[in-house]
Amino acid sequence: MTQYICAIDQGTTSTRAILFDKESQMIAVAQKECENYYPKPGWVEQNANLIYASVIAVINEVVAKSNIQMSDIAAIGITNQRETTIVWDKKTGQPVSFAIVWQSRQSDSYCVEMREKGYEDFFYKKCGLVLDPYFSASKIRYILDHLENGQKRAEDGELLFGTVESFLIWKLTGGKVHISDVSNASRTLLMDLDTLNWDDECCRLWNIPKCMLPQIKGNSEIYGYTAKGLLGDVQIPIASAVGDQQAALFGQTCFESGSVKNTYGTGCFLLMNTGNKIIHSKQGLLSCVGWKIHDEVNYVLEGSVFVAGAAIQWLRDGLQIIRTSGETDSRARQAASSDGVIVVPSFTGLGAPYWKAQVKGAMFGLTRGTNQEHIIRATLESLAYQTNDVLIAMCEDSQMDILSMQVDGGASKNDFLMQFQSDISNTVIRRSLISESTALGAAYLAGLAVGYWHDKEEIKLYHMIKDQFEPHMNETERKKRLERWKKAIEGVIYFGN
Ligand code: ADP
Repeated sequence: MTQYICAIDQGTTSTRAILFDKESQMIAVAQKECENYYPKPGWVEQNANLIYASVIAVINEVVAKSNIQMSDIAAIGITNQRETTIVWDKKTGQPVSFAIVWQSRQSDSYCVEMREKGYEDFFYKKCGLVLDPYFSASKIRYILDHLENGQKRAEDGELLFGTVESFLIWKLTGGKVHISDVSNASRTLLMDLDTLNWDDECCRLWNIPKCMLPQIKGNSEIYGYTAKGLLGDVQIPIASAVGDQQAALFGQTCFESGSVKNTYGTGCFLLMNTGNKIIHSKQGLLSCVGWKIHDEVNYVLEGSVFVAGAAIQWLRDGLQIIRTSGETDSRARQAASSDGVIVVPSFTGLGAPYWKAQVKGAMFGLTRGTNQEHIIRATLESLAYQTNDVLIAMCEDSQMDILSMQVDGGASKNDFLMQFQSDISNTVIRRSLISESTALGAAYLAGLAVGYWHDKEEIKLYHMIKDQFEPHMNETERKKRLERWKKAIEGVIYFGN
């Protein structure tokens, strides 16, 4: 009887279930949109019950679509939007508030206060993270402070906290299992990156009772089984949980220290596997856990670009000089070069390695001859320049050379961009056959836990590279362009101050 692995990819805007077979081929996909609510500027919330309902719906749909039985699923693997925070009542299973989504800034004042007390350095060293409302701790604090008797109820053991994977596993197991995994737990500002346990001092500083926290587990093991009757008569093992970016790194088979992946979505997320070493960045990159399989831990360095695909959306919706993001490829090629135009799309400030929140975007080098194609081309190039800045920071922090980079995400389909990335970073770019590397990562980790795949070597056999881009730009030209980009960055920083 053929068996499959079912990956659940619970993202910010949608939930998907994808069935993979042994050759890591996608058999079927089912998707449901998830609503986000924006009650105030900067706030983003979701309904955790609807997230859970969407998961059940997509599992049922994907099974029906592919004409298999629930019993043909060897294991379920979960990957999820990270940091999004849910607190629920242990007895009733009901969330006590909306889920606070990772992007939400509503708990910012707690982070400001913590920073003013001088704890920035402490948390950076202990957790590998910066004091930002992005991470879960201040969101938990917010929920407890805005719930009647919240703190007391938490201390009395009536409330449970979890990020999305934790809540889903609790629900899927009928309230039997309250766990999180190291990759998600390492994004809370509560876990010691060294010991991989909840840290007493962190919990004390945020005043978060430990009894509400889930038990921290590895990324590839059977945590529990789906409750009887939930998905038919069978009880399916839930055998992986992993944050979305780390899942993509695993799905891209970046198993070795020094390997890197970049996801070109609305923003870019770059992760570098740093092996069993925690690297504390000197340039504001974050450190977290990639995955833990048995006793083997892989850490990662993470850097992001705030505006990547979003700059392409700006060309479409703001400037209205393209109709679809896909046409940027051919339009960029219509110009022989960007004709000296540089676009710096730092609309929401500059992230790593600059960290200038006040900076705005800019366009440099305009002449009477500048046309739409030059601007389109320069905008695509800006994704590569920004990525390159993070890559350089990663090389310096890790003291490792980056020889190749695996890519995924919407804008990685753009051949012009991939070739320019390869040229400007002097690095080989590899695009996989299966673009769903996030779901695939969760599937691989679940499959490894139940013996569906034997080991990582076997997985590597199934990982197919579809396209490869090699650097062709000569060194003088590359240096010249990077120099101009650096000047443009200095320019936006100058005007941002
Ligand atoms: P997210 O998961 O962040 O929503 P996706 O991975 O779905 O993002 O990618 C969508 C982003 O990629 C959009 O910002 C879109 O403008 C951009 N994009 C999609 N296709 C292309 C393309 N062929 N060339 C350039 N950008 C693209």
